[in-house]
Amino acid sequence: MAQLVLIIEDEKDLLVTLEYNLKREGYRTRTATTGREALLAALGTETPDVVLLDLMLPDMPGTEVCRRLRENERTRRMPIVMLTAKTDEVDRVVGFEVGADDYVAKPFSIRELLLRVRAILRRAQPVSQEESGQAHQLGRLAIDVAAHRAWVDKEEVSLTALEFRLLRTLLERRGRVQTREALLTDVWEMSPEVTTRTVDTHVKRVRQKLGVAGSYIETLRGVGYRFIEAVRDDSTSGSERP
Ligand code: CA
Repeated sequence: MAQLVLIIEDEKDLLVTLEYNLKREGYRTRTATTGREALLAALGTETPDVVLLDLMLPDMPGTEVCRRLRENERTRRMPIVMLTAKTDEVDRVVGFEVGADDYVAKPFSIRELLLRVRAILRRAQPVSQEESGQAHQLGRLAIDVAAHRAWVDKEEVSLTALEFRLLRTLLERRGRVQTREALLTDVWEMSPEVTTRTVDTHVKRVRQKLGVAGSYIETLRGVGYRFIEAVRDDSTSGSERP
């Protein structure tokens, strides 16, 4: 089925133009003109593949819509492109802070926007489609370092940037013990407010999120953590085989 684009824009002319052009490119579209409508549409039965989000909506700021979509498990990873007349660096930063993936300043060319949409959808391809070829498979865990994404048994695991960095660091040094102090230096870059206890808390959370693959991270009591050297063959028995 064609990919679904949710267009959130209160300027009717622009909304119609966007809808027309996206449909012509073969996408399916859904539209919303307020933040409320947008949230209902995005959280409805079918999660959009990408969202175009106007920053200035009549009932709530686009940044608020973005924030709420990021809080919901189903839409946490959904690509969001912000559309705005504001080009200030401040607004751009706010957009990224609330989790926008890209930013297009009005007036923009439709052609440029379509290119961005296509690029963002390509980046968001699930690993099973093997578009990027960057995903490493370790037993039941798959990880795409460039895309900052991880999957267990083909089910995506939602990790924060920090959790992902922690997992990646352990993975890159698999088979070798990483002390809490080393992890603090490399993952947290020595923020003065964090303690070794923080490392434990985060490892625990990453393990929980990885579920069956959580056991790949071993604890060496009093020392630190280690990603296991080799994932045994039988650990993949629960997942599909080609
Ligand atoms: Ca607007």
